[in-house]
Amino acid sequence: MHCPFCRHADSRVVDSRTSDDGLSIRRRRQCPQCNRRFTTIETASLSVVKRSGATEPFSREKIVNGVRKACQGRPVSDDDLAVLAQRVEENLRASGSAELDAYEIGLAILGPLRDLDEVAYLRFASVYQAFNSLEDFEAAITVLRAENEAADAARAATAGSASEDAPTA
Ligand SMILES: [Zn+2]
Repeated sequence: MHCPFCRHADSRVVDSRTSDDGLSIRRRRQCPQCNRRFTTIETASLSVVKRSGATEPFSREKIVNGVRKACQGRPVSDDDLAVLAQRVEENLRASGSAELDAYEIGLAILGPLRDLDEVAYLRFASVYQAFNSLEDFEAAITVLRAENEAADAARAATAGSASEDAPTA
């Protein structure tokens, strides 16, 4: 990395620190020629391909803005939205692709949003998946309900076997 002050072609890393969320590394560097120090931040590249074909860096803020409307009037705080955006970013990074389109990002939002608030999820899904009839909503609600019942049954089964091992009052 070139020194930003004197353009010397080399620099020395004097300190490396991983950010709290583990998604980036800050490096303090020193130029061996002018001895000045500077910081670089290294992150895995993650960009969004827009409909126009242009790319822009992935932004958690845009995720939050994208779901905020669906969460209007729901018991969802700004902190909840920040956690959701973080989960979406982690899922997208885990997918391993460096470039994502709006469809893939929408898909990555659905799961965490459903865990957060089912009404907001249905609102978001209705726009994202272009629901255009009551039947589309009914189908989505049927899937949600069936999956919730399956999850309840699984929880009940787990609780049942746990209580055999260690009965509680
Ligand atoms: Zn320098």
